[in-house]
Amino acid sequence: MHNGKSPQGWPLERSPFLLESNVPGIFAAGDVRFGPIKRVASGVGEGSIAIQFVHRYLSNV
Ligand SMILES: Cc1cc2nc3c(=O)[nH]c(=O)nc-3n(C[C@H](O)[C@H](O)[C@H](O)COP(=O)(O)OP(=O)(O)OC[C@H]3O[C@@H](n4cnc5c(N)ncnc54)[C@H](O)[C@@H]3O)c2cc1C
Repeated sequence: MHNGKSPQGWPLERSPFLLESNVPGIFAAGDVRFGPIKRVASGVGEGSIAIQFVHRYLSNV
C-alpha cells in the first residue's frame, strides 16, 4: 500500500495492518515482501513488527 489506498481486492472495511498482504491475516516480512530492503537486520525487524500485528489480527477474528 503506497498510495494510502487499500490494495486491489482487499475485502475488509478496515485498512490492512502494517506488513499485511492483500489477503487478511497473511503478513509478509523480509525479501518476499514488495520493495524489500534486502538486509538481514531488516528482515528480522520486519518479522518482529509483523508478529505484533498477527496477534492483533488474531485478537479480532
Ligand atoms: C549473495 C548475497 C549476499 C548478501 N549479503 C548480505 C549482507 O552482507 N548483509 C545483509 O544484511 N544482507 C545480505 N544479503 C541479503 C540477505 O541475505 C537477505 O536479505 C535475507 O537473507 C532475507 O531473509 P528472508 O528470511 O527474508 O529470506 P531468505 O533468507 O531467502 O529465506 C527464505 C527461506 O524460505 C525458503 N523457501 C522458499 N520457498 C519456500 C517454500 N515454498 N516452502 C518452504 N520454504 C521455502 C528458502 O529456502 C529460504 O530458506 C545478501 C544476499 C545475497 C544473495
